[in-house]
Amino acid sequence: MKPFIGVQELRNDLRAKKYSAVELAHFYLDCISELNDSINCFITVDADRCLDRAAAADRHLAESDPQPLCGIPIAHKDLFCTAGLRTTCASNMLGSFIAPYDSTVVKQIAEAGAVTLGKTNMDEFAMGSSNETSWFGVVRNPWNLSRVPGGSSGGAAASVSSGMTPLATGSDTGGSIRQPASLCGITGLKPTYGRVSRFGMIAFASSLDQGGPLAHSASDVYELLAAMEGHDPQDSTSADIGKTVLPESDRSFVIGYPESLFDDLDKNIAACIERARQQFEALGHRIEVVELPHIDAAIAAYYVLSSAEASTNLARYDGVRYGHRTDVSEDLLDMYCRSRTEGFGLEVKRRILTGTYSLSVGYFDAYYLKAQKIRRLVRDGFLSAFESVDMILAPVTPNTAFEINSLKADPVEMYKQDLYTIPVSLAGLPALALPCGFVDDLPVGMQLIGPHFAEGEVLAGGMAFQGETDWHEHHPSLESASTS
Ligand code: GLN
Repeated sequence: MKPFIGVQELRNDLRAKKYSAVELAHFYLDCISELNDSINCFITVDADRCLDRAAAADRHLAESDPQPLCGIPIAHKDLFCTAGLRTTCASNMLGSFIAPYDSTVVKQIAEAGAVTLGKTNMDEFAMGSSNETSWFGVVRNPWNLSRVPGGSSGGAAASVSSGMTPLATGSDTGGSIRQPASLCGITGLKPTYGRVSRFGMIAFASSLDQGGPLAHSASDVYELLAAMEGHDPQDSTSADIGKTVLPESDRSFVIGYPESLFDDLDKNIAACIERARQQFEALGHRIEVVELPHIDAAIAAYYVLSSAEASTNLARYDGVRYGHRTDVSEDLLDMYCRSRTEGFGLEVKRRILTGTYSLSVGYFDAYYLKAQKIRRLVRDGFLSAFESVDMILAPVTPNTAFEINSLKADPVEMYKQDLYTIPVSLAGLPALALPCGFVDDLPVGMQLIGPHFAEGEVLAGGMAFQGETDWHEHHPSLESASTS
């Protein structure tokens, strides 16, 4: 067995009995034991149940019609509730929380036959761009252990990138699948808002949160999306739209190129995306320059809106109904205060404070309402661009993976990491992040942004690109990460 195998090969090998699902689970569990101490991707590893489920998968594989992901290992971001296995959201507040039910995403993926290895590290409550806000410690980038993996799905991205799992779930509120996928050199999709159920996914900003897949390639991302998506009556914003369908493989697209977005971009990163643009042209796709107005106001609007929603969503963690409860308190109010003070980290508190402020009487119109108007303008800008193009090619991050601790003390600098991902989130659009080169031995990503529910088209664009290039087949050497 070798690391970094794709879904199709794993499926063929399992069905051909080259190895069993139990052997495969052992392979990945061993890989986790070897690498996790230095990379810190997993908060919880569920070895016993993983092996039980792998044994059940072997029984299914012996039948004539096993499920699509039967026996294939997966890691879940630690904000998807898993019955009987703790779900921490990387917070002390939920450090010992065990959900009584599975989230829809976890349930559907299990029904598709995948075998859960464990739960991955993340920024606390998915707030961050570097995985440095986790109560369970920073995750290290497999390409360079002194760098961050991105966030908030940093554990998910690093676990795939380092070969500890072939598939991982993540969530993206303002970039949390695409940015870590790019910084770790893997492929990740933020689906259209409503494509994947949010039921049982711990909420950060409910009008933006969206679960999605991370993997080694666009075709593996498509396989996992097929297991995650679908209408769910338990999520009132879930879309009843049917499955993602790939277009004909020879279809040529008109790809929008938002030239002005590249003005301030690092020249080496811009060069990687420019080369990808030429590769798309060589593949027979047409490039058309597009304008995306109001993008420069998107970060400010996002941090007002997402923090406002977070302050509301996180009100439930009072140490009574949910979450950590302090050991010492003088009265009821003191108990609430101490529980929340002890349970939440600094960044989460910052969001609750600013979010509560912007919702308060007297400030609502100046901040929240204005941010909503900007959100609409950003969305309209994309929709008018999509009148003439099928998808848009854009950067994901302004830089490659940065040093651990280098931005942590400056929240505004950290927020600027989301410059290219947040507009897409505000508009609720699907976007596929995929690798397109290296700068100083660190991976560079680009994103293909589609109109609402055009996952099939952006995935087809990604598959076409990956059919001609091998950036997604580069893997970190991991010598310094190995403990054996
Ligand atoms: N970095 C952004 C934030 O901190 C996005 C996080 C996310 O998408 N969950 O809000």
